[in-house]
Amino acid sequence: MDTFDLETFLLESTIVEECPDEDDLCLDPDFRTAWRGEIAAIQRAGDRLERLAARLEVEASALALEESSGRYTASYESERIGLWPSEAAFLADLGIVPVLDAYCSGWERLEDDQQGAVVAGLRVFLEACPECDGAITAREEVRDTCCTEITQARLECAECHAVLVTSSTNRCWQPPEPRLVVHSDTIPAVRTAFEPVWEANVHDCNCLSVG
Ligand SMILES: [Zn+2]
Repeated sequence: MDTFDLETFLLESTIVEECPDEDDLCLDPDFRTAWRGEIAAIQRAGDRLERLAARLEVEASALALEESSGRYTASYESERIGLWPSEAAFLADLGIVPVLDAYCSGWERLEDDQQGAVVAGLRVFLEACPECDGAITAREEVRDTCCTEITQARLECAECHAVLVTSSTNRCWQPPEPRLVVHSDTIPAVRTAFEPVWEANVHDCNCLSVG
C-alpha cells in the first residue's frame, strides 16, 4: 500500500460504516462490543505489562509502564518506546489490537506507522472511558498570541478527565485577502510569497518579544 488513507482502510475493513441516522462514520457495533470486552478483560486481569510484552515479543521484566507529567509511557530497558496522553488511551490501544487481529485481515500487512495510525485513529470512536467508564466529551481551546492562533482540541473523559485524543493546529497569521498571487502550490513558494506581509505583521504586533 503506497499511500495510506485511514478512512478508506477503516471503511473497506468494515470496522467503520456510514451511521444509520447521521452523515458521519460509526464504529461497527460488533467491533465496539469486542473492543470493550478486551478492555474489561485487561482491567480484570491486571496484566497490561504482560500483554504488551507478548505483543512486542519481549520479556515483561524489561518493560516498564508509568505515568509522568500527565502522560503515560512505556519503556523497554529504560528507553521510551511508547507515549500516550493518558493511561486510559493506553488501555484503549492495548485492547484494540487483538480485536484488529481478529476482525481485519489486512491489518497485519500494514506498516508499523500505518498500524499506529489505525490504533490511535480509532480512539475517536470511543464512547466510554476505558479507565472509569465515564462519558467522552470534546473540548476545544483557542489560544491567541498576537499573530498565531493555536487551536487545541481534545477528547477527554467527563469523569476522570483522562485525555484520549489531542490535536493541535497552529495557524499563523495570514492576510485576510490574498494580496499576492501564488503561482505554485508548494509550501516554500507560499511562504516566500507571503514573507513580506508576515514580516511586517510580526514587527507591527511586536511578536518577537512574546517569544
Ligand atoms: Zn475516565
